[in-house]
Amino acid sequence: MHKIDMHTHILPEKLPNFADKFGYGDFIHLEHHRKGFARMMKGDTFFREIAENCWDPQVRIPEYAQHKTAVQVVCTIPVMFSYWAKPADTLDLSMFLNDHLAGVVDDYAEHYIALGTLPMQDTELALKELHRIHALGFPGIQIGSNVNQLNLNEKQFFPIFEACQELNMAVFVHPWGMMGEEHMRRYWLPWLVGMPAETARSVCSFIFGGIFEKLPSLRVCFAHAGGSFLPTLGRIQHGYNCRPDLVAIDNPVSPDAYLGKFWVDSATHDPRLFKYILEMVGDEKICLGSDYPFPLGDLEIGAFLEKMDLGADVLEKVFYKNTLKWLYGE
Ligand SMILES: [Zn+2]
Repeated sequence: MHKIDMHTHILPEKLPNFADKFGYGDFIHLEHHRKGFARMMKGDTFFREIAENCWDPQVRIPEYAQHKTAVQVVCTIPVMFSYWAKPADTLDLSMFLNDHLAGVVDDYAEHYIALGTLPMQDTELALKELHRIHALGFPGIQIGSNVNQLNLNEKQFFPIFEACQELNMAVFVHPWGMMGEEHMRRYWLPWLVGMPAETARSVCSFIFGGIFEKLPSLRVCFAHAGGSFLPTLGRIQHGYNCRPDLVAIDNPVSPDAYLGKFWVDSATHDPRLFKYILEMVGDEKICLGSDYPFPLGDLEIGAFLEKMDLGADVLEKVFYKNTLKWLYGE
């Protein structure tokens, strides 16, 4: 069966030294210290070791073909968002990354679809880059779960979502800038606890901030099966019911009314959780997404789903049909 993996990350093999170029800041640069491997450095600090499947589109194709996947949706690695930098510099960096993504799609049109990145901290510049990548043929964007700790329902972001709706562009929300990160450095907690909480934060921002209500045609997909939003929806719903004075101040509509409205990826690593999510959002709103090529990803790209007895119809939707609807609309 045909598969599209809608949650994967890629980088250019060579990054300019943006810290030198801009004269400040811990921008990511790469140290290619041995063949096929590089260190991502955040200023002088080691961030992560990556292998060539992080930058070489050709190496990736046979690797994901092993898992019967023909197409990957690629976007940058969230640490590259750089929303903290001066807006003009984030625009410069975003344009560099987006041009690279456009090149990958040009070179391997049958194997890649790209989501762009924007300088979200500056609405005007974000809109400028959004229109530019739309003209380049990008079907959507990837954004962080917060922007310099501002929630996505803040007024300044609304014109960007409005433009996405107008341009028929999809939005992928990926956790980054994890809340409480500085207090939980050990045990990989920012990734294991912070990321799911961040994604729940972003879903709640869209719902309670009334963004889905104001932009009914906006198509948003949340990473990692929506993080902790769906597993804690009982609590969120009860909060809405018992304290509407706190929860329903900007949007009177019940949170559970939005189930089936937004998309989530399949990266649950657990068939029981997948079943629950499927029941919650419906079989048209879960998309195969692996988080390739990182170790916390579902690197067998949905193999656990094939063992689940979901039926061909549901599998077909999850493996590619839902992603096509999310990306391009009806
Ligand atoms: Zn990811």
